[in-house]
Amino acid sequence: MAEEANPFESLQSQIDDAAAYLEVDDDVIERLKHPERVLETNLTVEMDDGSLERFKAFRSQFNGDRGPYKGGIRYHPQVSRDEVKALSGWMTYKTATADIPLGGGKGGIIIDPADYSESELERVTRAFAKELRPLIGEDRDVPAPDVNTGQREMNWIKDTYETLENTTEPGVITGKNLASGGSEGRVEATGRSTVIAAREAFDYLDKDLEGATVAVQGYGNAGWIAAKLIDEMGATVVAASDSSGAIYNPDGFDPVAAKDHKNETGSVIGFEGSEEELTNEDLLTLDVDLLIPAALENAIDADLAEDVEADVISEAANGPLTPGADEVLAEKDVFVIPDILANAGGVTVSYFEWVQNRQRFYWTEEKVNAELEELIVDAFDALVDTFETHDVDNARIAAYVVAIQRVADSFEEAGSWP
Ligand code: GLU
Repeated sequence: MAEEANPFESLQSQIDDAAAYLEVDDDVIERLKHPERVLETNLTVEMDDGSLERFKAFRSQFNGDRGPYKGGIRYHPQVSRDEVKALSGWMTYKTATADIPLGGGKGGIIIDPADYSESELERVTRAFAKELRPLIGEDRDVPAPDVNTGQREMNWIKDTYETLENTTEPGVITGKNLASGGSEGRVEATGRSTVIAAREAFDYLDKDLEGATVAVQGYGNAGWIAAKLIDEMGATVVAASDSSGAIYNPDGFDPVAAKDHKNETGSVIGFEGSEEELTNEDLLTLDVDLLIPAALENAIDADLAEDVEADVISEAANGPLTPGADEVLAEKDVFVIPDILANAGGVTVSYFEWVQNRQRFYWTEEKVNAELEELIVDAFDALVDTFETHDVDNARIAAYVVAIQRVADSFEEAGSWP
């Protein structure tokens, strides 16, 4: 099991690494290392048996210099104040990397949703939406799905907000289903950018994606879509995992059939296309061309990084590598496409959803995917440009150099008040 790096400290050390290459005042950098504000709230919710249960929840608004705070809400037993603060910072630099006019925020509830009924989860979600109501809005703060939340939760939040505000404002939240004002292509967007970025990296490194071997850690929305799309691009998915363990077949398997198996049984384990079962750690150290960590933070620490054999890593998850792992992997010349670029497709299509909501005019899936492709390729080109001109140790630092400069520019342009 990887070391438990504090994600907020990881974020701050990533900012410090990049700051060394920037001509931005130290006191502006200091602003960019802390959230503007964090809501901490206790939700008291009635359970199906009539008892009351308390849930702690957070919303961190990290930075709004470039636009409304933007970022998901996760439901997980390990949610903490520092985790939410870190994730909101990563959102700030992600929206800046993708160059979309949004800031960064993140929320979370300390809960294991598997332990609750649908009606209990609805009451928990609506209770959180009631607490969030004064803070959110299409021009203030726009939440979205994250770990263990999806269209269902977004629809509940939208409905609670619109009912309390006596309005219709679908752009208050993104990641909704189509009938509630969602966008085509939003569900696939995180996995899609993960593989577009990988394709660009292979091209940059002169590596062939056709026949390349791929391991995917985490088979939720980001991981399984990435597996499906990279398979469609001609790569071979040889391993995939979830919280129960990993499946492996050196000749590759059909990622869609593996997902069907997971839908039926609750796990990828036992899938007939697998030759061998592995641990998550074994999967992360497989000798593959491309590794896609698509689960939680701190999947790979410095120790485990010593054993990583992949040539390229595309981070579908947020914060899967500790700063110690980054150092080791840079020394081993592993090309890591950082989360703030690789998984930026999710928030980018959220941005498209918000634009469509505000215009009340909806795009085709082809248009969504074409616009996404363009923004991710542009972001990758800006990263490579900085990577080559600034002599930085790794691509993450290059991405932060670009992103921090963009946020600092809009802060400095506006000036500080009071
Ligand atoms: N939760 C996703 C992320 O970490 C999406 C956020 C959004 O769409 O606002 O990027």
